[in-house]
Amino acid sequence: MRIIVQKFGGTSVSTAERRQQVVDKIVKAKHAGFTPVVVVSAMGRKGEPYATDTLINLVKGVTHEVSMRELDLVMCCGELISGAVVATTLQGAGLDAVMLSGGQAGILTDKNFGNARLLKVDPSRILQYVQLGKTVVIAGFQGMTADGDLTTLGRGGSDTTASAIGVALNAEFVEIYTDVEGVMTADPRIVSDAKILDVISYNEVCHLAHQGAKVIHPRAVEIAMQKNIPLVVRSTFSDAPGTLITNITDELDGANISDRPVVGVTQVPGIAQLKVGTHKFQDRPDRSLQVFKAMAEAGISIDLINVHPTWVFFTVREEVLERAKALLDNLGYEVELNADCAKVSIVGGGIHELPGVMARVVEALTDANVAILQTVDSHNTISCLIPEAKIAEAVKALHEQFSLHSLSNDVRGK
Ligand code: ADP
Ligand code: MG
Repeated sequence: MRIIVQKFGGTSVSTAERRQQVVDKIVKAKHAGFTPVVVVSAMGRKGEPYATDTLINLVKGVTHEVSMRELDLVMCCGELISGAVVATTLQGAGLDAVMLSGGQAGILTDKNFGNARLLKVDPSRILQYVQLGKTVVIAGFQGMTADGDLTTLGRGGSDTTASAIGVALNAEFVEIYTDVEGVMTADPRIVSDAKILDVISYNEVCHLAHQGAKVIHPRAVEIAMQKNIPLVVRSTFSDAPGTLITNITDELDGANISDRPVVGVTQVPGIAQLKVGTHKFQDRPDRSLQVFKAMAEAGISIDLINVHPTWVFFTVREEVLERAKALLDNLGYEVELNADCAKVSIVGGGIHELPGVMARVVEALTDANVAILQTVDSHNTISCLIPEAKIAEAVKALHEQFSLHSLSNDVRGK
């Protein structure tokens, strides 16, 4: 049996007409000889009736603090509704379909409501139905604890469900159907001539996702990568082949990615920079450690970290800025804030080999009149903190600087 997983995102299942296109994709896969197992997200985006954000608003504000357990029960509903509707649509088209919640599909998680971790996937019930010839539709984004409580997997969780099911079923590949034709060199909402990547490595797409490319969740990539299950990102609304995410060197004999050292530009809005003066505590060798410990104990994740003898720079998500500042004030540090920032990054497996790459980043941003507030680089990324109002200019300038609109899709060896 040639099992594949097909995951359909929120926009793909948002209207009856679109759900018909979803059915077409499933039927096509069956005709091609595959056994599709389907994973769905909640219908539509923010503001639409059955979208997760809308459901959250039903309980948010009802009382001072909504318990995470009950909130998760509400958040699970979007995918349950969507799954039942898609399964019914499949039945209407003559397919023998059955719908399972995350828990029924064997997705076991820890008790970390709102952002639960997968512990195990037991695919036996899915397989029972598959062996009976049924098309199984699974509610994404959710799981169940050993006690039977419902949990959610955090934003982008349906991608994670799809990968985890793909691994558990040892699927031939996992298709992520969405509203764009693949992973692109930049967010097409910002860069109109962004190019679709035919193929990209797990590693590169993981960096793109971590640095803000919302098209696929990084955890989904990590899970698929562990078992080498190929992922394909493609559109529900066209027949374009999409982007193959794979272990390039393994899958494409003698691959060579040095022809495209940079594969994409990404952005993360809603960031604040903190500049923490530690000079008052010169006699204490652990003065910067204290700052990081305070953030860690409060569960505040920090990024773009630079440590100097008398200063520590780092960034936080804007939502936690006030809390971070209050903690540091209490400890007696001098704190300067820079709110309304964003991070733009270039990503690529060959960045570390590209001579003068930092000079080109700085040149592009300077020419576009974008101030650079801080930078950080790693093997596969260079990120710059910039004023949030300049995101579009910065992303476009970097895309242009590295000629990503004409990126080579030929990654095979020469
Ligand atoms: P879904 O609901 O199907 O999961 P998402 O909104 O999560 O869809 O992801 C698709 C969106 O990701 C696209 O509409 C696009 O605007 C955005 N996006 C951001 N960066 C990229 C990128 N590099 N390539 C493709 N899409 C991107
Ligand atoms: Mg998504």
